[in-house]
Amino acid sequence: MSVPCPECKKALQPDERGARLYCTTDWCPALGMETPVWRALKTSGLDAPTPAGLPRPEHKGRPIPWVTACSADEVWWRALDAQRLALAQNTWLCQGCGLTLPDEAWVLATPEGQVLQAALHEACRDQALKSCPHLSGATTRATPHLTTRDRLTTDGQPLDRAAPSDPDFLHQWWLKATEQDA
Ligand SMILES: [Zn+2]
Ligand SMILES: [Zn+2]
Repeated sequence: MSVPCPECKKALQPDERGARLYCTTDWCPALGMETPVWRALKTSGLDAPTPAGLPRPEHKGRPIPWVTACSADEVWWRALDAQRLALAQNTWLCQGCGLTLPDEAWVLATPEGQVLQAALHEACRDQALKSCPHLSGATTRATPHLTTRDRLTTDGQPLDRAAPSDPDFLHQWWLKATEQDA
């Protein structure tokens, strides 16, 4: 099922990365305007968010992370639900299952310390690495790190001093330098 343009009701088209949709109707006032997939799904009422908890719902044998955007008949693997991700970052929820994390939790981080979105339970970390091999692949070379909230920063600030993560201005978390050296 396609996602309709709110203006002309014709099907929106995905961009190359599969994270945004845009209208291609040449007479439509929304022509060329890009919307993140999660927002287009919510606006059209087609979003079908997965429940929190384990085991994760699966699509074609692949577990669906809690932060992945979903409609009833489609999993938008490359589109994050930014509302859920912001909530996970602000309230220390697992991005894999959506449940609360213990004080110490896992993040996947590049050699430079750039965190891939948010934190995870140990079991959810293993599931993410198994079902998304690109996470530890040549592009990100991410490895798991056990951390607490106070060892993460965003925009050079500790998390408790930064403005909350927002769906339109998501946090980019970093592991503190000492953490990488350890
Ligand atoms: Zn349109
Ligand atoms: Zn989890």
